[in-house]
This record gives sequence, structure tokens and C-alpha cells, in this order.
Amino acid sequence: NIKSKEDVYNEIENNNVKFIRLQFTDIQGVVKDVEIPVTQVKKALETGISFDGSSIEGFVRIDESDMVLRPDVRSFALLPWDQGKGVVARMVCDICKPDGSAFEGDPRYVLRRVLKEAHEMGFSFNVGPELEFFLFQVENGKATTKPHDFGRYFEFAPADLAEDIRREIVLGLIDLGFNIEAAHHEVAFGQHEIDFKYDDALSTADNVVTFRYVTRTIAKLNGLHATFMPKPLTSENGSGMHVNLSLSKDGKNAFYDPQDEGEVDQMAYHFIGGVLEHIKGITAISNPLINSYKRLVPGYEAPVYITWSGPNRSSLVRIPAARGQSTRVELRSPDPSCNPYITFAAILAAGLKGIKEQIDPGEGTDVNIYDLTPKGLADRNIETLPPTLLDAANHLAKDDFLRDALGSHVHENLLRIAYAEWDAYKLQVHEWETKRYLNAM
Ligand code: ADP
Ligand code: GLU
Ligand code: MG
Ligand code: MG
Repeated sequence: NIKSKEDVYNEIENNNVKFIRLQFTDIQGVVKDVEIPVTQVKKALETGISFDGSSIEGFVRIDESDMVLRPDVRSFALLPWDQGKGVVARMVCDICKPDGSAFEGDPRYVLRRVLKEAHEMGFSFNVGPELEFFLFQVENGKATTKPHDFGRYFEFAPADLAEDIRREIVLGLIDLGFNIEAAHHEVAFGQHEIDFKYDDALSTADNVVTFRYVTRTIAKLNGLHATFMPKPLTSENGSGMHVNLSLSKDGKNAFYDPQDEGEVDQMAYHFIGGVLEHIKGITAISNPLINSYKRLVPGYEAPVYITWSGPNRSSLVRIPAARGQSTRVELRSPDPSCNPYITFAAILAAGLKGIKEQIDPGEGTDVNIYDLTPKGLADRNIETLPPTLLDAANHLAKDDFLRDALGSHVHENLLRIAYAEWDAYKLQVHEWETKRYLNAM
């Protein structure tokens, strides 16, 4: 467990580290990095490393572009590959302005700010994500959408060809300090899931980013393409990133109440109430691609309706059956293409608002929602998630609460990117349209 600069220097010495990759993410959650030789590490830790922020998506204009990377020593870890030319370590960085103050466009800062509010209320925020992804074949150096295997849910050899690669990914993640809980084949051909233990939200967001590039790198080393695209195949399940959420106070799970009939504290319901109230705007953040909305359709185990329930998996929010320290709320809409820092920040801000204002989440829906008729949905007043990125962006644009929680820099940039994405998409004549209309009209 690395906690200080001295720990970092010792690790470097003991492991003969030659290079350090300094990482951060842009506003879309794409990992960026600068590599420094180990001779520069003192400078990096004492004063930070300068870079040009104007070339990073969602950061700053050219006239105010000097930014400084400040490595977070707690994130120091050795990368499990590249050993050939010397051991390489990585550190995740916070981003500062030249005067040393935090940069409001840094996704880590956005999350830190909301976490501070939680800490002031006496809470720490735990997040456990479930990342799903596809492994596709590569042909002539190009990724295809041909699944690497024809295994199905929890499939075992010989249909599950990816056992070895999945194991290699798991071992790589363990080397990087992950606490892996389970790995299995998912429902779709070529689809997999690896679950790691929940941690405080900032560490988990760092872990999500790390998870994505470790998975892609190890797949590539095995001649495959790993993708976190939410819905790569039309008639198969897409890839979600369910997030398990809980608050703790004085080391105890604040969502657990042994006195309550269902052993769930009222606070958990209020948290859900806040999240549901803002879920339409949050969706533009947790499901940021045009393609994200092709996953949120009926029939593929992804949520469509804005409901909560007990263990029933057809709801957007569920309360899994586990109690005690594992009492948690699971939000099933986010997908693994999101920026985890900003997504967790938005969810936490909404949940805290729910607790402060004691927002009632309404009645739970303990039936299979996919079986309800349009009338059944209307009778129950059940709303749907935004059906497109445009619709979600319009909700985010109107959501003043989320604007305040994330800061207007990030709020504006998220919207700018979402609308640009929509405008580019809108211009495309899709193959589906030509097939359907060319001869018919
Ligand atoms: P599912 O029931 O949806 O299949 P999984 O077992 O795949 O769930 O994943 C459960 C996730 O929930 C793991 O990441 C686990 O660490 C996390 N988790 C367990 N307890 C808590 C908690 N108290 N707070 C947040 N996450 C938790
Ligand atoms: N792949 C499904 C989704 O898109 C989830 C399957 C599951 O419940 O694990 O969210
Ligand atoms: Mg799954
Ligand atoms: Mg789940």
C-alpha cells in the first residue's frame, strides 16, 4: 500500500523501474498519458509536469493552455507488460492550473468535489462496477465484429475459447492491485464480464480506466480486439457497466438497517429518489455515445423504464438481496464507454440531494417490467429513459442541479460534445434506410 513519496521512491528502487507513465483522462474518459524516465520522478512529485491542455478534448482554449500534472502517489503501480525495455510504472494524476489551483475541467476534480460534500455529511461513497466487454477477431490488422467465440452465459470449455485470455487479463489486473471477485462468459457470443471489489469512488473510477486499457492491451497481445462499445451487435445483448453503490458512515454501511423490515435504511430509498429524479440528465453522462441508446431497448437485459425494485433485474435500479456490509443499490443503465469520474460524481450528487431532501422514490415495481403492456406502464406512471443521445442531452441542458454539481465548465463541454456527435450522426444515411426504402419507394 503506497501512501507517500518515499514509498514511491522505494518501489522504484526495489523494482528497478525505468519509466513512469503519468495518466489522466479527458472529459470523455479517454486515457491520456505522458511517459517520463525515472530520473524525472522527483520533479513530477515535487512540482508536477507541465503540458499543453488545449489539445485535450474538453479542457481549455489555446490562450490558457498551460496545465500541470500532479501524480497521486496512492495510484502508483507496476504495469504487467512492456518488461522488455525496463520495468514501467504508472501513476494517475490530478490536473492543476499553473498557479497550483485545481483545474475545474479535470474529471477527477469533479468527482473529488462531490466526494467532499459527502465527507462533510459524514459519508464515504463506495462503488463496485460490473464491466462487460466483447472480444472480437482481428483480420489483416483490423478489428472485425466477428465474435472470438460462440460461448454463452457462464459457458465452460470448449465453447468458451476465451478462458485463457480472460485469466491473463485477471492476472494482469491483480498485478496492478485489483481485488478480482469473479470472471465469466456473458450472454452474447464473445462477451465477457470481470468483476472487482468495490472501493471508494475515486479509486474505483481510476480502476475503471485502468481496467479498460489492461483489457485492450492483453487482448491485443493475444491477437484479438477488446471493445467497450455499448452495443456492437444488433441482435445480441450489449455491454453494460452496472454500478453498485453504497454510503458508509463510521465504517458501517449506511444503507443497512437491521431494525427495518427489509433491513434497508430509509437513506437508501432517498438516495434512489434523488437518482431517479435526475436520471434523464445523468443518462447523457453515463451513456454518452449515439450507440449507447441502441443498448437501452427492451429484450436485452438492459434497462428501459425508470423504475426501482428489490432483486428483480428488469428495473433500472435494484436493491440486490445481500445485506449487512454488502447492502447496496445497483444502477443498471451506465455503460462502459462513459467517463467513470463524471458519471459517479453525477450519481452521488443526485443521491445526496435525495438524502438531504428526503426524496421519496415512489412505489417499487416488483414485476417483470418487460411484460407490462403500454396501458400497464401508463397506469403505473412509468416513464422511460431518454431514447436518444439528443433527448438525453436536452435533459442535461435543462438540469440546473447537475450543472451546479459538475461545474459549468464540464456541463457545457459535455453538451457541446453530445450535440456535435448528434449532428454528425444525423447527416448519415444508414444502410438500414437504403435497404428498407431504396426499392420500396
Ligand atoms: P450481480 O448481482 O449484479 O451479478 P455482481 O456479484 O456481479 O452483482 O457484482 C457485485 C458488485 O457489487 C461487486 O463489484 C461488489 O464488490 C460490489 N459490492 C458489494 N458490496 C458493495 C457495497 N456495499 N457497496 C458497493 N458495492 C458493493
Ligand atoms: N448485458 C446486460 C446489459 O446490457 C446485462 C446483463 C447482466 O445482467 O449481467 O446491461
Ligand atoms: Mg453482467
Ligand atoms: Mg449486475
